[in-house]
Amino acid sequence: MKDVAIIGAGPAGLSAGIYAARAKLSTVIVEKMYPGGQAAITDRIENYPGFREGIGGSELTDSMKAQAEKFGAEFLNGDVQKVSKQDGKFILHLKGEILEARTVILAMGAESRKLGVKGEKEYTGRGVSYCATCDGAFYTDRPIMMVGGGDTAIEEALYLTRFASSVQVVHRRDQLRATRILQERAFKNEKIKFIWDSVVEEIKGQDTVEEVIVRNVKTGEKTSVFVNGVFVAIGLVPNTSFVKDLVKLNEQGYIITDENMGTGVPGLYAAGDIRQKSLRQVVTAVADGAIAAVEAEKYISGQA
Ligand SMILES: Cc1cc2nc3c(=O)[nH]c(=O)nc-3n(C[C@H](O)[C@H](O)[C@H](O)COP(=O)(O)OP(=O)(O)OC[C@H]3O[C@@H](n4cnc5c(N)ncnc54)[C@H](O)[C@@H]3O)c2cc1C
Repeated sequence: MKDVAIIGAGPAGLSAGIYAARAKLSTVIVEKMYPGGQAAITDRIENYPGFREGIGGSELTDSMKAQAEKFGAEFLNGDVQKVSKQDGKFILHLKGEILEARTVILAMGAESRKLGVKGEKEYTGRGVSYCATCDGAFYTDRPIMMVGGGDTAIEEALYLTRFASSVQVVHRRDQLRATRILQERAFKNEKIKFIWDSVVEEIKGQDTVEEVIVRNVKTGEKTSVFVNGVFVAIGLVPNTSFVKDLVKLNEQGYIITDENMGTGVPGLYAAGDIRQKSLRQVVTAVADGAIAAVEAEKYISGQA
């Protein structure tokens, strides 16, 4: 049985792993995809303290992983399907495997919200993407669309101008939510054009995306926009479905914790984007992970 089982190897899980393993707790980090989470697919992180020129997302998270391993954290590739508590210990149900732990840190983060329109599912991987860093290069010299108006959408739109011939940003309001510095960069970029007060109604094409029907939410007018790619960045959905009966969730599905990352279930903590909080960034995710690991240590040593 492990002292600490961490579910998810994004920044929150990796930071928790560093703190737990360094405190000499036997620690396993279970990850269903690749270590680094959302941060690993971010081209450049400019606001993480300590890197004046910014740092590549995967470079930062690879380094966090190596640091956790240095202190003895184990990594396990697996998809946790269920967590239960029996006789004071936690049982993690993976596909075909069971893990036992004294404490658990939930750090499953969040994933991209879908548009939910006709054509989105059919063309995912054939023109519809949720990751500019992963797929941007496929659109060299081609026109594309970015849907969204927050930091991620504008950051990704700017990144995509390296490849695409043009980036049309479709936003349902008449102004962006993104931070001022990103807005200024986007407004200055000649490749970026805005389609305000509009939403995507349908995505069409033959084998790949060719056309997007956009509807103006104020006038109801529908327009065809001819692009080869549609990137979507309209927010996040927390990965909490399998813990909904175990912990308290808010209306959006985020885990409600106290300030020490406690979920209300003794020995069970939540850290990072998965929890109800006001700022979802790497810097807050790693802070949460550190606090959760320290609390897990206190719980194990009978102090909490
Ligand atoms: C495009 C983009 C750009 C961004 N830019 C910035 C930026 O410039 N600066 C900044 O600070 N932040 C940025 N962010 C936000 C930042 O990446 C997140 O806040 C941070 O990654 C959250 O970390 P996390 O560990 O809580 O969750 P995540 O990074 O989401 O990691 C969660 C991990 O858990 C795994 N997982 C989920 N379910 C399971 C399961 N059942 N079993 C096992 N593993 C599971 C996932 O595969 C994932 O690896 C950006 C995000 C995106 C998407």
